[in-house]
Amino acid sequence: MTYDAVVVGGGLAGMLTAFELRPLKVALVSYRSLGELTSSAWAQGGIAAAVGDDDSPSLHTADTVEAGAGLVERRVAARLTADAPNAIERIASLGVRFDREGEDSHYALGREAAHSRRRILRAGGDATGAELVRALVEAVHGAAWIEPLEGARALDALLDAEGRIAGVLVRRADGSLERLSTRALVLATGGIGGLYEFTTNPRASVGAGIAIAARAGAKLEDLEFVQFHPTALDVPIDPLPLLTEALRGEGARLVDERGARIMEGVHPALELAPRDVVARRVFAVRAAGGRVFLDARALRDELPEHFPTVFAACALHGLDPRVDLIPVVAAAHYHMGGIAIDLDGKTTVPGLYACGEVAATGVHGANRLASNSLLESVVYPERIASDVRAYLPGVPPPVDLGAEPADARPYAPAYPAEWKALRREMYAGVGVERDEARLTHALDTFRAIAETNPSEELRDAATTAALVANAALRRRETRGSHLRVDFPETAGTPGHSFSTLDDLVDLPA
Ligand SMILES: Cc1cc2nc3c(=O)[nH]c(=O)nc-3n(C[C@H](O)[C@H](O)[C@H](O)COP(=O)(O)OP(=O)(O)OC[C@H]3O[C@@H](n4cnc5c(N)ncnc54)[C@H](O)[C@@H]3O)c2cc1C
Repeated sequence: MTYDAVVVGGGLAGMLTAFELRPLKVALVSYRSLGELTSSAWAQGGIAAAVGDDDSPSLHTADTVEAGAGLVERRVAARLTADAPNAIERIASLGVRFDREGEDSHYALGREAAHSRRRILRAGGDATGAELVRALVEAVHGAAWIEPLEGARALDALLDAEGRIAGVLVRRADGSLERLSTRALVLATGGIGGLYEFTTNPRASVGAGIAIAARAGAKLEDLEFVQFHPTALDVPIDPLPLLTEALRGEGARLVDERGARIMEGVHPALELAPRDVVARRVFAVRAAGGRVFLDARALRDELPEHFPTVFAACALHGLDPRVDLIPVVAAAHYHMGGIAIDLDGKTTVPGLYACGEVAATGVHGANRLASNSLLESVVYPERIASDVRAYLPGVPPPVDLGAEPADARPYAPAYPAEWKALRREMYAGVGVERDEARLTHALDTFRAIAETNPSEELRDAATTAALVANAALRRRETRGSHLRVDFPETAGTPGHSFSTLDDLVDLPA
């Protein structure tokens, strides 16, 4: 099959990019049904945009830069925040029903940690992601130029002799392999939280896009920066339900078993301190044998109405947040690093683009400001679409690549034991607290897993895990979400880290 463009990922970034590519012929490859097993659908807090009367893109930029611990590219953040209000109007015009209030039906704006203004747009209270995904799935299904390939997994980018994108190899739901021919490939495969034992991310977020891009020779950036959310619900299920930061924005407190506020004396903003600060504190209290709870009792009757997702998740585990303290744990939540892209979403491989959480735009630095990630996923698709339109006339059209490649590795299901080992090692070795010994041990584990001739999915997971561990090993300082207990100081001059697959020379391809 030949397409003008192939987009991989059925989340917000992938669906919106496919939509914006109109009228090009687009295949939208999605591991499950569109929207299923996506972080997008699970997003609770909302989407940040300076649309309030007391707000401006420059204030939004300043907060983003402040949160990013010296590594936010101000120019990129300024473009993102300036484009935000239009992007919101654009998705509202696609049918997204944001919460509104007042006689003039203005967007209802929430507040979140480290935002200096109320600028978080929500939908259905804490069901923002579900509403975004609902509207996008509907838009994609009504788009004649998009062919959704649901239940298909992208395995590898295919390159021509000049090193440009020529297609993508996919595993269809029936197990068959197929080469999709295209000159423009957009990876929108989401984050890496699923690589961790404790995570808020869905099962599909295991870094496949990073591994695919790495094998194609793309440059990767700031892979070591993984944000841990301080308030995942501490219950024995996987992945863990999230207790949105907006709860703390509305006054919920973090307390220990004795009811003492754990953020007192740690940061002047208390529970509204940057996420890395709060996550570290939660981790430290638990590592010392204590327990941490979110006390949202003061919000009482607001809870079922404004936080229905949280309320339902607690109820499922026998907790009523109006009267009970809610146990929490720090869990892998968001990947700031990823495939290096420019302002138009281009990677270093001609014809290869990345969008959404899998990309490293430079906006999040060492610590993402909450609710800026959905924003990125709605701002970049239009830019990518116009770059693809400009790129295609300069390259040969896609050619039929034939069906099943002879050199494909045999299909095998994931090996549960190795998955478990990998995820445990990621949390223990490449988690909230890191040091050389733990990182080296983790890297050795990932290399060993890669050498077992694992399934396709586990191969990608081991590759990405090794790349992240290696980047974390090389950053010998503490910055933002990256805490090196053996290098507790922050270096004087901040610098991005760049990696390629060559950094892991002995990892089996
Ligand atoms: C619980 C939770 C709450 C959050 N709340 C917020 C919030 O309030 N505000 C905010 O800004 N951000 C929030 N985030 C982060 C935000 O949701 C994500 O960063 C964003 O939705 C990422 O969108 P995406 O399209 O890049 O990835 P996703 O939505 O995760 O979609 C990735 C897609 O790629 C598919 N895929 C992966 N690998 C392959 C492959 N090899 N082949 C085919 N398909 C593949 C997946 O199945 C999925 O369809 C939250 C995240 C979580 C987990």
